[in-house]
Amino acid sequence: MTIEQNDEQLAWGQALESDEMAQSWLDGHGRSFGLFIDGTWTSPGSETFPSSNPSTGEVLAHVSQGTVEDVNAAVTAARAAQTVWWGLGPEGRSRHLYALARAIQRQSRLFAVLETLDNGKPIRETRDVDVPLVARHFFHHAGSARLLHDLIPDAQPWGVCGQVIPWNFPLLMLAWKIAPALAAGNTVVLKPAEYTSLSALLFAETCQNIGLPSGVVNIVTGDGRTGAAITEHQDIDKVAFTGSSEVGRIIRRGTSGSGKGLTLELGGKSPYIIFDDADLDSAVEGLVDAIWFNQGQVCCAGSRLLVQESVADLVHEKITERMSKLRIGPPLDKTVDMGAIVDEVQLQTISSMCDAAEAEGWMRVSAPLDAPDNGWWFPPTMFPNVSASATIAQEEVFGPVLVTMTFRSPEEAIALGNNTRYGLAGTVWTQDLDTALEVARRIKAGVIWINCTNHFDANAGFGGYRESGYGREGGLEGLRAYVKSTSGDSDGTSAPSSTPVARDSGDVLDRTAKMYIGGKQARPDGGYSYDVLDSEGVVIGQAGLGNRKDIRNAVEAASKATGWSSMSGHQRSQILWYIAENLQQRSSDLAQRIEGMTSCSSEDAAAEVDASIDRWTFWASWASHYDGAVHDTPVRSVVLALNEAVGVVGLVCPERWPLLGLTSLAAPLLATGNTVVALPSCSSPLSAVDLYHVLEASDLPAGVLNIITGAHDELVPVLARHDGVDMIWYAGASDMVELVEAESVGNLKRTWCPSGFDPNSDHAASMYLLRQATHVKNIWIPHGI
Ligand code: NAP
Ligand code: MG
Repeated sequence: MTIEQNDEQLAWGQALESDEMAQSWLDGHGRSFGLFIDGTWTSPGSETFPSSNPSTGEVLAHVSQGTVEDVNAAVTAARAAQTVWWGLGPEGRSRHLYALARAIQRQSRLFAVLETLDNGKPIRETRDVDVPLVARHFFHHAGSARLLHDLIPDAQPWGVCGQVIPWNFPLLMLAWKIAPALAAGNTVVLKPAEYTSLSALLFAETCQNIGLPSGVVNIVTGDGRTGAAITEHQDIDKVAFTGSSEVGRIIRRGTSGSGKGLTLELGGKSPYIIFDDADLDSAVEGLVDAIWFNQGQVCCAGSRLLVQESVADLVHEKITERMSKLRIGPPLDKTVDMGAIVDEVQLQTISSMCDAAEAEGWMRVSAPLDAPDNGWWFPPTMFPNVSASATIAQEEVFGPVLVTMTFRSPEEAIALGNNTRYGLAGTVWTQDLDTALEVARRIKAGVIWINCTNHFDANAGFGGYRESGYGREGGLEGLRAYVKSTSGDSDGTSAPSSTPVARDSGDVLDRTAKMYIGGKQARPDGGYSYDVLDSEGVVIGQAGLGNRKDIRNAVEAASKATGWSSMSGHQRSQILWYIAENLQQRSSDLAQRIEGMTSCSSEDAAAEVDASIDRWTFWASWASHYDGAVHDTPVRSVVLALNEAVGVVGLVCPERWPLLGLTSLAAPLLATGNTVVALPSCSSPLSAVDLYHVLEASDLPAGVLNIITGAHDELVPVLARHDGVDMIWYAGASDMVELVEAESVGNLKRTWCPSGFDPNSDHAASMYLLRQATHVKNIWIPHGI
C-alpha cells in the first residue's frame, strides 16, 4: 500500500477529555445554584432557568434569576466591603489577586471542562487559551494592585462596579472585568450571561476558598432584567459592559446624567487583509483562527477577508480546501477544531443571516457538516466576492461566517477596511514592513495584528473605535478605567446658558457677527446675530446666532481636515506655538474684550489672556512629547501602543473664562490631532470671535478648529446627535449633561462631560486631558527568524 492510500484510510479517533470532575462538581451542588452575595450562597431563587450543554442539549444545572432585591443586597454588600478592601492596601489586595491566579491554575482542568460543557467551545481552546489567559490576568493585576500608586499616583477607586458580560468567553470576560477592578481597589457585582453562568459560579466558590473578604466579589446570575437592575442601580459608581451594540446603547441611555463611569466593549466586523506578498499559507492558517476560533462567536473575529486581486483565486482555493478539513464535533474531543453554537437562538440568528445573504444573491460556500444529531451546529461558511454594501458584509453575524472581497492597491484595502461602522480590530498580512505599518496606522480600530491574529494579553489594551465602544481592557488604560479622575470633574456648577435674542443681521453693519468654519469667516446660515451684553446689560457687540446648518457645515469642514491627524506632533506643535505668539501680539485687545464682557477687573482679564497664551504653549509642547508605549507580553513580539486622535470632536465651552475655557479644552484636542467644532461661551463669545484672526494668521489648516457662536440650548443637541462627530467634550451648564450623554447613542460617540470644569485648576493642565483626547491602538508585531 502506498503512503497516499494509507493516508486515505486513516480516520480520526475520538480523544475525549473526561468530564467526571466537572459533573461531580455539579452533582455536589445538587445541580442547582443560588447567588453569591456577601461571601455566601443564597438558596436557589423562586425563579430559575436551565444552563445547558450546547453540544447535546442536556440541562447541566438550574441557575437563579437574580431579582432587583438580590441586586440591592449585592450592591449593599459590595459597598460595605469596599472600605475593607481598600483598607487592605496595595500589598494586601495584591496577595489576594495572586491567590486567585494560583487557585485558577490549580483548578484549570475543572474550569476548562466546565466552560466547554456550558459554552460548547472546544476543550483545546478553553484548556490552551481561555483559562491560561484568565490566570495571566489575575497574575498581571496582582502586580497592578501592588504598583497601583506607582502606576497612577493619585489613584482613587470608583467604589462599587457593576459588570455585565456576554457568553462567548464567559470566564475570560469575567477576568478582564474583575481583575483590574479589584486591583484598583473597587468591589464588584457581576452578572454572567444567561447561557453561561457556571464558570462564574465556580469562580465565586474559588473566591470563598482563597478567603477573599466577603462582599468584594458578588455574582448575581440572571437574564437581561438582572443586567438592567445592575446597570441602572443608583448606588453603583461604575458600569463596565461587554456585549452587543444594541444593549450598549440601552445602557448608555440609562446611565446618562448619572455621573457613573462607563466603558463599553461592543461588537465588530473586523477586516482581515491579505496582500499578494504575504506568506499565504500562514495567512490562511491565521484566517482559520480569525473566523473559526470559538465557532466565530468572537467580537474581534476577522469576518471580512480583503484579499489582493492577484492572489484572490489562490487564497479562495486554499480557504475552501482548509474549510473542508476542519473537524466539527463533540467539544470535549481534544481533536476537534470547532464545537457547538452556544444556543439554538444564536444558531437561528446565524442561519437566517446566511439565508438572507443568499436571498440577496450572494453565493454560499459551506463545508460539509458531519455533526452529532443533538446539539446546535453550524458549518464553516464563506460568502466569496460580496459587495462592500451587502448586508452580510456590514452586519456582525457572530458565527462561523466569512465574507470576502478583493482589492488592488493598499489605498483600496484601507478604504474597504474602514468601510464599517465598527472599529474593534484588524489584521494585515504582508512581508513588506512599510505596507504593514502604514495600513495598521490607517485602519480605524483599537487592535491591529500584523502577520498574526487573536493575540490578547493583560498588559496590552483591547477595545474599540467608533461603534465598537469606548474604554480599554488590559494595559494601563484598562486599569485607569477603574480609577476616578482626581479632578472632581462634575462637582462644580457653571452658570446656566443664556438665551440670546435673535436680530436680523441684515440691518447690522457690525462685521463681527460671523462664524469660523473651514478656515473662513462665514455668515450664520440663518442670517441672525444676537447682542452680547456686559455685566450691566449694555450691548457691547454682536455675535452670529448659529443654527443646525452651521453645525452641519462645521462638522463637514472638520471631517475633511484629515491631514491634521496624520501630521507629525512636531508640525502640530509648531502651529500651536504660532497661535500663542499671535495671541501675545493681541493680548491687550483681548484683555479689554474680556473685561468688557465679564465683570472682572482689568488685572483678572489680563491674567486670563496670559494664562491662555501659556496654555497654548503648554499643549504645543505636549504635541511633540505625548508618546505611546511598547508593551511587554508573553508572546515574542513588540506591541506598539499608539495614542491616536479620536476624530471630530464637538466641544462645548464653559460660560465663564471665555478665552481660557476655550483654549484649555481646544488646545489639547488639537495637540493630539483631533479636529474641533467649538461652541464658545454663549454669553461672552467675543474673545472667541477675536481668535478668528489669530487662527488665520497662524497657518492652522482649514477646518481644524471651527467656532460656532449662539445658544447652547439649541446647538448642543444637534452636535451631540450628529453622526459625523466622534466625541463630545461638554463643559457647559450641568443641566444639559444628561441630554448630551443620552443623545450620543446614535453613533455611540465617546463623551466627556466635566461640567464645572475650572480652567484655572491644575487638572486643566494635566495629562488626564490628553488621555481623554485620544484612544489607544495596539499593534501586535510578532517576530522571529
Ligand atoms: P448582549 O445580548 O448584549 O448580552 C450581553 C450581556 O448583557 C448579557 O449578560 C445579557 O444578559 C446582558 N443584557 C441583556 N440585556 C440587558 C439590558 N437591557 N441591560 C443590561 N444588561 C443586559 O450580547 P450577547 O449576544 O450576549 O453577546 C454578543 C455580543 O457581544 C456581540 O455583539 C459581540 O461582538 C459582543 N462582544 C464584545 C466583546 C468585546 O470585548 N468588544 C467581547 C465579547 C462579545 P443575557 O445573557 O441574559 O442576555
Ligand atoms: Mg450553557
